[in-house]
Parts: sequence; structure tokens; C-alpha cells
Amino acid sequence: MMFSEDTQVTGIVFNIQHYSVHDGPGIRSNIFLKGCPLACRWCSNPESRSPRPELAFKEGRCLGLGKCTRCLGACPHQAIRPGSDGKPVIDRTLCRDCAFQCAAACPPHAAIVYGEHRTVDSVLQEVEKQEIFFSTSGGGITLSGGEPLFQEKFALALLREARRRRLATAVETTGFMPWER
Ligand code: SF4
Ligand code: SF4
Repeated sequence: MMFSEDTQVTGIVFNIQHYSVHDGPGIRSNIFLKGCPLACRWCSNPESRSPRPELAFKEGRCLGLGKCTRCLGACPHQAIRPGSDGKPVIDRTLCRDCAFQCAAACPPHAAIVYGEHRTVDSVLQEVEKQEIFFSTSGGGITLSGGEPLFQEKFALALLREARRRRLATAVETTGFMPWER
């Protein structure tokens, strides 16, 4: 079997959401790409704006420094310090969004990373598991974000390869891009 070069193109994905019924016909899998040139006040996915992977902190999941201090010691830049409420505080002026050792060290995933380098093939292998829902509902995949055309090479490769695999495609875009894209 011949594989296209598109399968190995890499981009940054921050979420894949299955069983979506609001982003195109039928039941769909939304693939959220990171990065957007705008900063709308009503943005529903502000964690998608930066084009790079970035650290987030879900405070409600944190065990508290009385039970766990792993992230404090994990950061090589001393960007995490104890807060007055018994939870850690991330000093964003020191955080380098480095190799995310803090997130790797956090047992309940309170410190998490938004954004992961993925190949076209790995993304499509994941969404192809939903094919039965696509074919029975007239659904498919929707590229969203962020602004999916911000990663235009990855978006184009994803769409081309999805079509080769007979997946229906849609794109949610702001249209805020050079016309050629
Ligand atoms: S992402 Fe890196 S620099 Fe930022 S807090 Fe975590 S370990 Fe420290
Ligand atoms: S490692 Fe996780 S659970 Fe432990 S203090 Fe840090 S954020 Fe909280």
C-alpha cells in the first residue's frame, strides 16, 4: 500500500472532541488546532490562541501543598511557588513552557499541557475509530481551533489525507487569513 507524504506532516493539536453535532452535518469529530491571529473577547477556546504548547493549571484538581509538593521541585526554572491558599502559584514571568516536567510530575493532572505535536496519521487513526457514527449520520471531521488555517500546511495535509480515506471534511474558520491560504 502506498502512503502519501501527507501522513507524516506534523502540527499542534490541543483537543479532539468526538460526538459533536454542532459543527457540521451529522455526528462529527472536531480536531482543534492551536494558534489564532485574533483575540476576540468572546473566544470560546482561549487556550487555543498561542501557537505553542502551554501549561495550564486546574486548581480544583490540585491535592494542595499539604499533601503534595511535586510540581514545586519539578520546575527547573523555579516558576512554581507556594501560594497563600495552600495551592501552588505559577509565575508566568519565569515559566518557559519548557519540557513540562511540572505536568509530568502532577498525579491528579492539575498541571496539564494544552497542545501536543501530532502527525496527520495519528490524528486520523484516532478519528477513524468513529467511522460508524460518520457513515450512519452523514458526519465526518471538522477542523477547528484556534484558527485551523493558522497551521495551513498541517490543515491542508489533514484534509487531503482525510479525503483519501473517504472521510467527509469541514473547516470552521474566521477567514482572517491571506486569500491564498
Ligand atoms: S512548564 Fe516548565 S518552566 Fe513552566 S512551570 Fe512547568 S516546569 Fe516550570
Ligand atoms: S503536583 Fe499537582 S497536585 Fe501536587 S501540588 Fe502540584 S499541582 Fe497540586
